[in-house]
Amino acid sequence: MKLRWLFALTALFWMSCGSSEGDGEVKITPTQDPILESDTLFQDVEEKDQRVELPAPDYDTTAWAEILEVTDGIHIDLRYATENNFTEKVLYDCPRCFLRPEVAEALRLAQMDLKEKGLGLKVFDCYRPQFVQEKMWEIIPDPNYVANPKSGSMHSRGLAVDVTLTDSLGNELDMGTDFDYFGVEAHSDYLELPTPVLDNRQLLRETMENYGLIGIRTEWWHFSMRGLSYPLDSMRWDCP
Ligand SMILES: [Zn+2]
Repeated sequence: MKLRWLFALTALFWMSCGSSEGDGEVKITPTQDPILESDTLFQDVEEKDQRVELPAPDYDTTAWAEILEVTDGIHIDLRYATENNFTEKVLYDCPRCFLRPEVAEALRLAQMDLKEKGLGLKVFDCYRPQFVQEKMWEIIPDPNYVANPKSGSMHSRGLAVDVTLTDSLGNELDMGTDFDYFGVEAHSDYLELPTPVLDNRQLLRETMENYGLIGIRTEWWHFSMRGLSYPLDSMRWDCP
């Protein structure tokens, strides 16, 4: 397309030069060169085509950052926005992944690191409002499965993220168990698993920890940023 236009414009340029030679009225200076000007325009259009137009943030950007598939390349599958979670209830009105800005930045760096290896991240949960934590506790008041909202969850501080590895197409890699599987098979020190599964878990953990997102023993998917202080929060995000 671009070459065809260039050819046409080049032809026009030479035609206009040819017709102006005789009467001497038209002078083309370097700044008026139609080929250079049109080429610049095409570059602008090509770059504009690749730019993603995003709506203005509808949240407090000093307190939160949002992970977006379209710009961050991180796949978002917030299980609590579906019934496909251990409570079997929809707990979020819509799936939006918010984190504290420092945590979001660390996650983006981990994603860029994995992308160079032909892999990526998929998030299952990000910031979890305190009122949702309370609702979870109402459904399953068992500290083995749910953090007591009195002490709160790192998710409700915006400091934790639940995440897995994907291939370049977004297909989940085998991590041995599903997200929110409550059993020893999900523990990071459980080694009775096929080597590829152990390798996947190790790669996820090493990558996340390189950016300050530290794992826990009982859930291979859970990582949180230590050394930061944010309160338990009940920020409720808007849905489209
Ligand atoms: Zn978690």
